[in-house]
Amino acid sequence: MLEQLKAKGLRMTPQRVAIVQLFATDPSHPTAQDLFERLGPTFPTMSFATVYNTLDALAEVGLSGTLRLGNAARFDPNTEPHHHAVCTKCGAVVDVPAPSLKPAKASVRRVSRVAPGFAVARVERVYRGLCAACQETSRARAASKPRAAKQQQ
Ligand code: ZN
Ligand code: MN
Repeated sequence: MLEQLKAKGLRMTPQRVAIVQLFATDPSHPTAQDLFERLGPTFPTMSFATVYNTLDALAEVGLSGTLRLGNAARFDPNTEPHHHAVCTKCGAVVDVPAPSLKPAKASVRRVSRVAPGFAVARVERVYRGLCAACQETSRARAASKPRAAKQQQ
C-alpha cells in the first residue's frame, strides 16, 4: 500500500506511514476521527486534516473503500467485492464477502422504474441487526430485570 501511494506521488512522512499502517491492518471500518484519536498519543502535533487527507488519498487511488452509514465517512482497507453487516446498537461493521457487486437485471429494472436513465454501477448490501456481543448484553439485561423487580417488593 505504501509503495502504491509513493508511486502516486504522495510524499511519505512518518505520520502518513503510521496512518497507512494502522489503517491497513484495521478491519473495523474506522472514521478519520477514530484513527486521529488512536494516533494522537504517538503524534501529538498531527492535525486531523493530515489523517483525513491521507485516507482520502487512499480512497482516490482505489486503496480504500468508503462507507457512509451515519454522518462520517468510514474507510475500508478491503477492496475486494463485499457487503456489510452492521450492528444497529454498537455500530460494529463486518465484511461479508460477495462473489460480485454486479447488479442483477431485475434490480436494474426496479431502479429504472423510479429513476429513469439511472445507470446502476453496483449493488452493495447492508445487513442490519445485533452483533453477538450486543445480543449477549441485552440477554443479560433481560435476565437480571425480573430478579431486580422481585428484590424491590
Ligand atoms: Zn453490537
Ligand atoms: Mn468493508
